[in-house]
Amino acid sequence: MDWRSIESKWQRRWMKARIFEADPEPGRPKFFLTVAYPYPNSPQHIGHGRTYTLTDVHARYMRMRGYNVLFPMAFHYTGTPILAMTRRLREGDRELIDTFLNVYGIPEGDLDKLKEPLGMARYFHEEIKQGMLEMGYSIDWRREFTTIDPHYQKFIEWQFRKLRQGGYIKRGSHPVGWCPKCQSPVGQHDTKGDVEPEIGEYTLIKFRLGDAYMPAATLRPETVYGVTNMWVNPDAVYVEALVDGEKWIVSAEAAEKLKLLERKVEVVRELRGSDLVGGEVENPINGVSVPILPAGFVDPKNATGVVMSVPGHAPYDYVALEELKRSREELLKYGLDPGRVESIQPISIISVPDFSDLPARDVVERLGVSGQRDSKLEQATKEVYRAEFHRGVMKPNTGPCAGLSVQEAREVVKEEFSKRGLVDSMYELLNRPVYCRCGSECVVKIFRDQWFLDYGDEGWKELARRALDRMQIVPEDLRAEFEYTIGWLRERACARKAGLGTRLPWDPDWVIESLSDSVIYMAYYTVVRWLKKISPDRVTDEVFDYVFLGRGDPEGISKRLDISPELLEAMRREFTYFYPLDSRHSGRDLVPNHLTFMVFVHAAIFPEELWPRQIVVNGSVLMGGQKMSKSLGNIIPLRDAVRRFGADPLRLSLLISAEPIKDADFSPKLAQTCRERLERLYGLAREVVENYSEGEYELGHIDLWMLSRLHRRIKETTEALDRFEVRKAAHTALYLLSQDVQWYLKRCRRRMETEEGRKTVYAVLMRVLDTQVRLLAPFVPHVCEEIWEMMGRKPFVSTAPWPEYDEDTVRPDVEEAEEAVMELVEDVRNISKATGIKPKLVCVYTASEWKWRLYTEALKQRLEGRVEFPKLIREAMKSGELRKKAKQVQRYLKSLVEEVSKLPENKLRSRLKAGVPDEEAILTDAKPYLEEELNAEVRIYGEETPDKYDPANRAEKARPYRPAIYVE
Ligand SMILES: [Zn+2]
Repeated sequence: MDWRSIESKWQRRWMKARIFEADPEPGRPKFFLTVAYPYPNSPQHIGHGRTYTLTDVHARYMRMRGYNVLFPMAFHYTGTPILAMTRRLREGDRELIDTFLNVYGIPEGDLDKLKEPLGMARYFHEEIKQGMLEMGYSIDWRREFTTIDPHYQKFIEWQFRKLRQGGYIKRGSHPVGWCPKCQSPVGQHDTKGDVEPEIGEYTLIKFRLGDAYMPAATLRPETVYGVTNMWVNPDAVYVEALVDGEKWIVSAEAAEKLKLLERKVEVVRELRGSDLVGGEVENPINGVSVPILPAGFVDPKNATGVVMSVPGHAPYDYVALEELKRSREELLKYGLDPGRVESIQPISIISVPDFSDLPARDVVERLGVSGQRDSKLEQATKEVYRAEFHRGVMKPNTGPCAGLSVQEAREVVKEEFSKRGLVDSMYELLNRPVYCRCGSECVVKIFRDQWFLDYGDEGWKELARRALDRMQIVPEDLRAEFEYTIGWLRERACARKAGLGTRLPWDPDWVIESLSDSVIYMAYYTVVRWLKKISPDRVTDEVFDYVFLGRGDPEGISKRLDISPELLEAMRREFTYFYPLDSRHSGRDLVPNHLTFMVFVHAAIFPEELWPRQIVVNGSVLMGGQKMSKSLGNIIPLRDAVRRFGADPLRLSLLISAEPIKDADFSPKLAQTCRERLERLYGLAREVVENYSEGEYELGHIDLWMLSRLHRRIKETTEALDRFEVRKAAHTALYLLSQDVQWYLKRCRRRMETEEGRKTVYAVLMRVLDTQVRLLAPFVPHVCEEIWEMMGRKPFVSTAPWPEYDEDTVRPDVEEAEEAVMELVEDVRNISKATGIKPKLVCVYTASEWKWRLYTEALKQRLEGRVEFPKLIREAMKSGELRKKAKQVQRYLKSLVEEVSKLPENKLRSRLKAGVPDEEAILTDAKPYLEEELNAEVRIYGEETPDKYDPANRAEKARPYRPAIYVE
């Protein structure tokens, strides 16, 4: 099959017929979805392809469901992602050049063009767009733009003035993620593995050591009442330093970090952690003296490198203390008094329902934690933390905190004791270590005189939470991740000194950075094609205020700016038609930044009814189980993959291995298999179309079965797509339905030998095909268009209506009976295997009417509660006939009770709904198939048919859905 020519043919036709261009159609429901626009700083690989393909599937599905779907695309030229790439190129970065030349096949002569940001952006913009066209994405390209277009810059200026007016932008000094080597703030797009640095604040409790302080860093200051000792890492370097004039003992790394946090730090002397061990410090909160002990788990790079030990409530502390008590060697090494250490007992200060006095010990013992290095300790810590934070109450031995909840106590300790100078605080990365792309570990720095978006503002957080509450999050379990992000987000630098983008309108030395100019641009898509008709200098805030917020009067604006009122109104109409955004698709790594910022800024600027309705998050792509990376040499450029496998097979292989939220596992072999699968589908379609002739045909049992399966598959596919279970949907529409078709064809082999039979089979298959092609169109649109055209359908399957599910066509009775046919073949084969007899004759006996009647009765009983033998017997003995063979009836009922009790719930319901199938007729209908399949003569009898051939008295064993068998 010539995939490339089929694909380009349909891509041309779609473009020519403009079927993906969406204009407002009042009265028709719309669906507006977007996916993060790409940074054109390299060509795309198949990992990018997955996110865009998933979005395209969604767009195509909704279009077929009758929505007026808008799916636009643009290109993000702004900021460091492009800047950093050009810099690496100019610096002659070997790895990057190698990747560009040898992985992506960029001609060497083109490299020079890529050394300037704009050159690079334009170059890869075209490259990426070509890839999207070749993948067949159903994008409305009329709305394409870049983030450095003058009209877009006007829009971003408006956005920023709005935010500033709302009080959401501030200038000042705030903590930012920072690379000490690059001397630059770092966001997610600057870090290895695209990690967003999460900044948090540790409380420092200033334990006294002689005339100095040892500030213990903790996120749980309320546990200070339970401190039994101090931990230092004996092998780490510590320093004595003057910090704002006070003598502190902290790790050497901490001293450096405190400088970045605007503390005045003078290092007096260095010492080893082991020098500190054995000393005694005084707890500033209760005056209790506790020893300093060694612990390997203490990380000198985290906060101050000094940790207070609360073994009653912190699993790490509990385990480290127990280990130390047991290790005489360790105790002697540091000259510690074993008696002193052994006498240390955990102190209980928080009571939590369902835990003993010492929750740390409970969890450590339950999880079987083996030591300080056991990774289960993380889990144990989280568990205790969660239980105590949500349900803990402070005990009477906690001074002013007694009786308070843990959450309240935390605030009390921070506020009360910082007033008295007993506690301090320090910013730290909560998700450290985070590495800059240059390789250095990132830290926190207080950045002066910066412009910030104040995501720490409680009022703004509340708005964002409200917006989030109204939104659908797919998958729903990610909602907690969004809530967590809203919780920890604080002031965030929104402008840099360099890079492409829009200048801050009130301070043009600054360029708005890339995670700040990409949060409400979905609105811009709705009007961009009108805006371009106006010269940018006339696109003022007044225009946007009117178009997006409905403020001001179009007549006045029109006069002042010399823009026609019709144009203004057209923009307003189009915006209000398509907005709010119905769905935003993105990769999972954008949850802690872009996606949450989008929620914040929409909530700040737009009225509630225009907030986004949904976010859909997806995982990435692995290559044969491994992460794609340059070092592994397993990156497959998207356009290469299209050339190698074809767009449809590639699309399918990116969708079929995992549900959207999971990481998909791609391999060339998988793409190849998908391709062969689609070629088989195409081959069968061709056969059906060639052999089909119109007419009315009488449908037999197996035809009804095929149509029943078809409608079941429609329902399953539709429901799966509605839940974004894209893998399941594609699997159902392609593999499961094709399996049904294969069975159908197998069953019809004999029938196909007659003219009438052939015609009926092809008529049924035509109905199947008509549906299957539409079910598959969102996933593999090109081959579906090709088949659709071959079937004589017009104009495009892409705009055809989604198949409708018809409940009445689904026939559980027919399907149940067909299952009995499938099982029958299996049973005969098993008998033949067990006995070694190659059957020449197979007799099949179907259960008699009374067995069916009691079977149904048993199903009903089970549905009402449970199946009861005495009740069934009573029912049976009402009949004089059955009283005559009471023994046989009893035997049957005993096994019936057992069988029906074990029946799965769904089976129970479908069998009840199905009623009693005419098994004898169905098996008689299947006889030609059975004879062929078993290569034997097949005779069908009712259990009580007189004169039946039954030399081994098997007939009596017949049961509903399980006919008895005799083989010779
Ligand atoms: Zn760096």
